[in-house]
Amino acid sequence: MPGARLADGDAGSEAGGEPEDAFRRRLMVTCDGAGASHGLIERLDTLARWPGHQLIYSVGWELGERERASIAQVPGQAWQIALEHRGEARERRADEACADRRCVHPRCWIEEAHVTELTGLLREGPSGDQLAGWPTAMRIFARRERPHPGAS
Ligand SMILES: [Zn+2]
Repeated sequence: MPGARLADGDAGSEAGGEPEDAFRRRLMVTCDGAGASHGLIERLDTLARWPGHQLIYSVGWELGERERASIAQVPGQAWQIALEHRGEARERRADEACADRRCVHPRCWIEEAHVTELTGLLREGPSGDQLAGWPTAMRIFARRERPHPGAS
């Protein structure tokens, strides 16, 4: 599932008349495909530019032909291990892992998710800018996960 992410909104002059409230100045918004829309992302992009505020948003949506074509062009080494919110890779034991469940053998552990950035391919790829009309600060990431054992 690709996702868009923007992190900024710390420039310009005072505006808005909102009360000084540190809690409200740093905000993260996440949303899945059901709520993703052009209007939502434009609104979040506008909010992210409020002076003195920081807004990070992450919106996911289903893969389309545009994303699939870009993913097909991503070289294998461009996929990075996806880290969870605590900064750790989510791993599971390989079927052929050794008996020591706390070992550090690379062959005994399988990373379950990887991530890569598609922004460059979608903005400047052979098909031209496929994100025209979307905020310029928006970045697109794709995440892939291994199927869980036993999943069909
Ligand atoms: Zn081992």
